[in-house]
Amino acid sequence: MSGPDAAGSAAGGAQAPRTPTPAEDDAFLAEAISLAREHMLAGDGGPFGALVVRDGQVIARGWNRVTSTNDPTAHAEVVAIRAACATLDSFELHGCTVYTSCEPCPMCLATCYWARVARIVYAATRDQAAAAGFSDALIYDEIPKAPDARQLPMDRRLADASSGPFDAWAQKADRVTY
Ligand SMILES: [Zn+2]
Repeated sequence: MSGPDAAGSAAGGAQAPRTPTPAEDDAFLAEAISLAREHMLAGDGGPFGALVVRDGQVIARGWNRVTSTNDPTAHAEVVAIRAACATLDSFELHGCTVYTSCEPCPMCLATCYWARVARIVYAATRDQAAAAGFSDALIYDEIPKAPDARQLPMDRRLADASSGPFDAWAQKADRVTY
């Protein structure tokens, strides 16, 4: 079974990352907050910014680009993580810290787990975001529910055929696990 098992996968990392100092945390987070403001004012999207940092080096920067790119997944953290992965030519970000101007939404939090980042540092809370019109409470509430109990209808069908891709994956000799 594959999944975002950060603890197990992190053991494969080559070197232990240097832990940022509180002053470094504040400086990187302040830049994320600046990105949020600047790019919102420029018309890129909502007021959210993020950085991916490893060993004191900024690997990538991101800011919300939902409305300017018609991409509902273009949240600051996702944008930054995609850019960081491209820069490092890797689908994992071991040892990286994500600095984000606001507590991650469920999508961005999940993305951080999938990317195996080491740590998240944030400024505004989800309650502050909700007060500004960016509530993700519904999604957080929906996730723990059974599929058939969610507001978004989910209908399971073709159960007999559903394991086909997994069977083919298991047989694929050159599969790249993650
Ligand atoms: Zn998000």
